[in-house]
Amino acid sequence: MYKVGITGGIGSGKTTVCKIFEVLGIPVFYADIVAKQIMLSDPLLVAGITSTFGKESYSTDGKLNNKYLAGIVFSNEAQLAKLNALVHPAVFRAFENWENQFDSTIPYTLKEAALLFESNSYKMCDTSILVTAPIDLKLARVMQRDQVSADQVKARMDKQMSDEEKAKMADHFIVNDENSSLIEQVLALHKQFLLTAKEY
Ligand code: ATP
Repeated sequence: MYKVGITGGIGSGKTTVCKIFEVLGIPVFYADIVAKQIMLSDPLLVAGITSTFGKESYSTDGKLNNKYLAGIVFSNEAQLAKLNALVHPAVFRAFENWENQFDSTIPYTLKEAALLFESNSYKMCDTSILVTAPIDLKLARVMQRDQVSADQVKARMDKQMSDEEKAKMADHFIVNDENSSLIEQVLALHKQFLLTAKEY
């Protein structure tokens, strides 16, 4: 199956773009959502988190103790790297399982991941898309969507790789600046992927 990775900075609109691909019949694997789910359901991952960060990582009814874990990893790069080293391979496994459900009636799939390049997950894809938007627009979108301050959004942005760095690794680009038509850009790429996937 031909696999397309899609990423973009916070508020760039990557999920919005994925929804358009879904309308075109392309299945989308939302890596960040799956990561949250499997932190509860993947026995290997749950065991890894518990042994690395302690039993306090989960409540007695099996819920993730977000506050406790965030307290450990939020300001400590080494601890964050440890968590990522547990979560990323588990997401890769989940992606492989998810992919296996599709037959040849599906031309290609999309994998949406905020950390597509940082987690090396782009290496499991055949090509990649970077969604970009002007910083002011990204800020305003996330402040509105999540009801948070500009400083809170900036703190999240600072933790991500810059668009310039991501652009060096991306194969395709979608500009979501609310001037250029998103639908036209998605349709153009879709057409291109259909052709490439046919010869895959
Ligand atoms: P995150 O990394 O935070 O999950 P994202 O890149 O997936 O963000 P979206 O959730 O798709 O971004 O978009 C952020 C917000 O901006 C959403 O509320 C979405 O509805 C809005 N938005 C995105 N693109 C557009 C657009 N072209 N026009 C209007 N609103 C938009």
